[in-house]
Amino acid sequence: MFDNLSDKLDKAFHVLKGRGQITEINVAETMKEIRRALLDADVNFKIAKEFTNRVKEKALGQDVLSSIKPGQLLTKIVRDELAELMGGEAAGVDLSGQPSVILMSGLQGSGKTTFSGKLARYLKTKKSKKPLLVACDVYRPAAIDQLHVVGDQIGVEVYSDRENNDPVTLAQAGVAKAKELGCNVVIIDTAGRLAVDETMMTEISSIHKAVQPNETLFVVDSMTGQDAVNTAKAFNDVLDFDGVILTKLDGDTRGGAAISIKSVVNKPIKFIGTGEKMEALDVFYPERMADRILGMGDVISLVERAQEQFDEEQARKIQKKIAKNRFGFDDFLSQIQQIKKMGNMKDLMGMIPGAGKALKNLDIDDDAFKHIEAMIHSMTPDERANPAKLNSSRKKRIAKGSGRSIQEVNQLLKQFEQMSKMMKMMQGGGGKRMMQMLSQ
Ligand code: GDP
Repeated sequence: MFDNLSDKLDKAFHVLKGRGQITEINVAETMKEIRRALLDADVNFKIAKEFTNRVKEKALGQDVLSSIKPGQLLTKIVRDELAELMGGEAAGVDLSGQPSVILMSGLQGSGKTTFSGKLARYLKTKKSKKPLLVACDVYRPAAIDQLHVVGDQIGVEVYSDRENNDPVTLAQAGVAKAKELGCNVVIIDTAGRLAVDETMMTEISSIHKAVQPNETLFVVDSMTGQDAVNTAKAFNDVLDFDGVILTKLDGDTRGGAAISIKSVVNKPIKFIGTGEKMEALDVFYPERMADRILGMGDVISLVERAQEQFDEEQARKIQKKIAKNRFGFDDFLSQIQQIKKMGNMKDLMGMIPGAGKALKNLDIDDDAFKHIEAMIHSMTPDERANPAKLNSSRKKRIAKGSGRSIQEVNQLLKQFEQMSKMMKMMQGGGGKRMMQMLSQ
């Protein structure tokens, strides 16, 4: 995410390196670099210009303390301005309705259906809500199927009616269905088109009038840069929506949409989509995003994801097994699965301060654990529970079964042994404290 922009901003700050003070002259070059970096990231020209003017004004007005280098001071000013530009405080969704009606809008392919599922899952698991998903895309039967697949996946009821091809009465029937089922949130997924057109706008605004949503959200693909901003403007003119959802921020996005959208429509970005999986949803925090853009990492989001996936019950079980010397490959496998649930590996690495840049050229794919899993899956349950039984003929069989080399199997066994040893060590004496620290 934002690799290019982070790099260029970093270079811009370097111009000031070694300078004792920020002056009109030396800041001019840096501002030019920053403006160029923003334009390359597909930020609108006017926004980029206003941005650098504001940063410059602040920078020149600051007393440079001897303990802070001009480059650092400027980084801080840019970070604060970026956060401000993206929206100040984090904004939630209005859940006060009985039921609360949430209407999705956006172009086809922006990620509306995926986000509807993610939001339903989020509200169900994090806010203890009982959501109902409503399929209002009457033009594409596949879209209705897709919402049903998503609903099944997350265990949320989906309302659809293939006989009805009027999205307005469908949406109303969806709200009535929610009341009947005792659901307290209704998420209405609507049809989008490939580009903004009048028919789509008329339809979405008729649905909007008919169901009077508590919250109208505009979903947009962040990869589309300035187009995203123009689409947002068109939808906002008609719907006066409440918030923006930026999807596909896990991809090779240049960042322009994230940076510009708030100042164009003056509506907050509420959530971001960071993958195709239902868990790949983050609440949008402007300051954390600014940190990520500047390559400062986002430790808070990383810790939150870890906490979210941390299963206390399982941790206790594993601790017991270690104490009894019964930690086996099945436990190893479930540990790997927990890490994987936290999300895309490269994305996670990018949240570690300084790591984003260092790891950029490393090829960490999401399947980093695939080989290990394949080897463990080729073991019998007995072997997984009793790794000591793995003699050379068994190792050969495992290598063959998983399509890996015998060296790789040996390496895995070695890693496993080291890990078990370390865990045993931590169990004794001061180790307990270390375990507690690790599990906090
Ligand atoms: P809709 O037409 O607006 O309902 O869009 P969909 O929900 O069908 O999404 C279009 C495509 O984008 C699908 O292939 C999704 O899996 C994918 N997608 C949606 N959100 C994200 C995201 O945050 N990251 C990535 N990488 N893909 C996404």
